[in-house]
Amino acid sequence: MNVAVIGGGYAGMAAAVALAGRGITVTVFESAQQLGGRARGVTYQDTQLDNGQHLMLGCYHQTLRMIEQVGGNIEQDFLRLPLQLDLHGEFSLKAPRLPAPLHLIEQLAIRVGWQKTPSNSLVMLVALLTAQGLSFSERLNAARFMLTMRSMNFRLANDINVTELLAQHGQDAELTQKLWEPLCIAALNTPIHKASAQVLLNVLRDALNRSRADSDMLLPRIDFTALFPQRAANYVKLHGGKVCIACGVEALRPLEDGMEITTASGTTRFSHVICAAPPAVAAKLLRPIAALAETVAQIDSLEHQPIYTVYLQYPAHVTLPNAMLGLHQRYSQWLFDKGRISGQHGLLAAVISAEGIHQELPQEELAQKVIAELREEFGVAEQPAWFKVIAEKRATFCCSPNLHRPLQQTALPRLLLAGDYTAGDYPATLESAVLSGLKCADVVIMQRGIM
Ligand SMILES: Cc1cc2nc3c(=O)[nH]c(=O)nc-3n(C[C@H](O)[C@H](O)[C@H](O)COP(=O)(O)OP(=O)(O)OC[C@H]3O[C@@H](n4cnc5c(N)ncnc54)[C@H](O)[C@@H]3O)c2cc1C
Repeated sequence: MNVAVIGGGYAGMAAAVALAGRGITVTVFESAQQLGGRARGVTYQDTQLDNGQHLMLGCYHQTLRMIEQVGGNIEQDFLRLPLQLDLHGEFSLKAPRLPAPLHLIEQLAIRVGWQKTPSNSLVMLVALLTAQGLSFSERLNAARFMLTMRSMNFRLANDINVTELLAQHGQDAELTQKLWEPLCIAALNTPIHKASAQVLLNVLRDALNRSRADSDMLLPRIDFTALFPQRAANYVKLHGGKVCIACGVEALRPLEDGMEITTASGTTRFSHVICAAPPAVAAKLLRPIAALAETVAQIDSLEHQPIYTVYLQYPAHVTLPNAMLGLHQRYSQWLFDKGRISGQHGLLAAVISAEGIHQELPQEELAQKVIAELREEFGVAEQPAWFKVIAEKRATFCCSPNLHRPLQQTALPRLLLAGDYTAGDYPATLESAVLSGLKCADVVIMQRGIM
């Protein structure tokens, strides 16, 4: 067996590591000069940035496990924070430490076996009921919504959009704007009137309802290429594989007993191909293969959503009150203080997810809006020495209701598809990318058993 992986993003590198770890010969082809894809390190003005500020959650179990498998150390690589949604001066929700009696009841429940781990649902109910910036009836309403969703096992009979779900459960405008909308945009990168309620519930189920550590927010202290893809490449090479950078795949051809790949340096035969390129590239490579027409149609029907990150380098003494905090009804949806996260003092990042009026502004003007917001909200009077706007126009697929995402297994048994856009419970995230890569590797490993 020799497997080609097209694309050195999180999906492709997860697949490559899983295969190499099982002794299967693997070759990764990456078209760019560096690994990481949509989660990659970027250097600007001698400063280490990413193509966009990312956030991971404690429930990204497979991504965290893979980072450890290739030599990472989660506690050193990340700043771990308990879940906190803070819209500066407008709203604040924090996962509390349970008061002593509740904590003891929970410990007892674990000891007698009623419960396996500290459950987060009680913590989340307390968090909702004690949130600041909402009236008592709004807080009660939010808690009731979570309880109802829990009683339904976070499953809807029919998928609808998030606006409709919230309206059905009496979540008013204030509650929506301060809690559910920022949460939905952060999780699904899709505006609530277009977003799948079922996928949002999948995220709430896994992040808020299970173990307490699952809802933790993890902010990387190192860049996204160094965090996993580069370490993964070292791991693959150590296990006898190859990683070819700046080596894009131009064509794919099915053979009777394998697949043929064409790059600028020639044509090579493989027993299997895992295509982990972004959706537009995957569609282009698959289009000439008649048997894959349905898969190509599914990929073509996906729409995309942008994410903009504005990095600003202020003098080293400039800080924000928290490592991460949101703004209500501003251009900057979430602000990150890189000084607090990775020791890059004075470096701030403003993230603007999903479509919106910010897309109509020239980048210089957008940066000036963010600078004005930092001045008005936090009194940052200085001008930054530089700023850098990174606009990822096709950051993720638009996570709308009832999407038919292509399966990892295609009509050709030797060609598999990995990537955040392929079938799965989650929206486009690092975890969905990694999960898809692992699924493809599992299929190949199973086929080895019967070959
Ligand atoms: C700005 C931004 C912020 C984000 N924030 C978050 C976040 O906070 N949390 C989160 O979980 N997710 C976040 N995401 C989403 C996350 O980054 C993606 O879901 C994930 O990186 C997708 O990985 P992938 O491997 O599926 O695809 P990609 O990363 O797109 O990897 C595909 C790879 O294929 C390569 N390639 C393309 N063409 C070819 C070819 N012809 N031959 C060979 N290789 C090719 C590409 O260069 C790329 O390296 C964010 C995304 C962006 C853009």
